Amino acid sequence: MNQGKLLYAGKAKSVYRTDTKDTLIVEFRDDITAFDGGKKDTLKNKGSYNAGVSAFFFEYLEKHGVKTHYLQMLDNHRMAVRTLSMIQLEVIVRNVAAGSIVRNYPFREGTRLDPPVIVIDFKDDCRHDPMLNDDLILALKLATPQELRKIKKISLEINCLLSALLAKQGILLVDFKIEFGRQGKTIRLGDEISMDSMRLWDKVTKESLDKDVYRFNKGDVMATYNRVACRITGAAPRSAVAKKKPAAVQKNRRRSLRPVAKQKAKTR
Ligand code: 5GP
Repeated sequence: MNQGKLLYAGKAKSVYRTDTKDTLIVEFRDDITAFDGGKKDTLKNKGSYNAGVSAFFFEYLEKHGVKTHYLQMLDNHRMAVRTLSMIQLEVIVRNVAAGSIVRNYPFREGTRLDPPVIVIDFKDDCRHDPMLNDDLILALKLATPQELRKIKKISLEINCLLSALLAKQGILLVDFKIEFGRQGKTIRLGDEISMDSMRLWDKVTKESLDKDVYRFNKGDVMATYNRVACRITGAAPRSAVAKKKPAAVQKNRRRSLRPVAKQKAKTR
């Protein structure tokens, strides 16, 4: 399979056409961002850790009957995937109160959410991904009622499968964000499931093992990603952990953060 033209470049991934029918390539880049792009860096090897963990989860989910876009890894940071027509929803499943749900509602951080809480945001960077409800999703024609039911059902199945898998490694799945797409009439899980899109805590110490380490300067991000990727996939840790390389300093960072913080206090 040959990589073709760039189709789309997001904050941390790029999507390319290929010469194979209905197949795209997702490249996991070494870029990392938070606060709606207000904080940006390039961290060597970050793309490969996220790609490896995503591939591991996609394979595990497929084995357990969840339909995904995953086909195969091409190298340590590029993944061949089925072409999907993406649904503009970010589905967040929460098992424990943390992040925006604590900032926006009277939950104490660490409170168990049982049953899990599903929150669905509108995937629209310009609007800072506002939260939706079922009526808005239907009124905006983002999904049909049947699709919405299916998306919620698959999301809860994924939550059960991943929570159990991670628990075996002593990791608590606090929350995660997933995205879906259509392949004909079939709904498939797309995008990624990685340390960038999950909140993971060590079960015993409650230490953050995910992008919160980067967001809130909690420690060495790449050392954390290296360790957690190994815990999840069972791979041997890489010895040389790359040092942080600051990307071009963003002008107006403070100014661009303030209105966002007011609107939604978004930390993604
Ligand atoms: P929160 O709403 O607390 O900021 O995020 C909840 C969970 O969803 C976290 O695990 C967070 O990493 C993930 N998440 C929410 N929005 C995004 C997003 O736009 N991109 C990514 N990669 N993850 C997100």
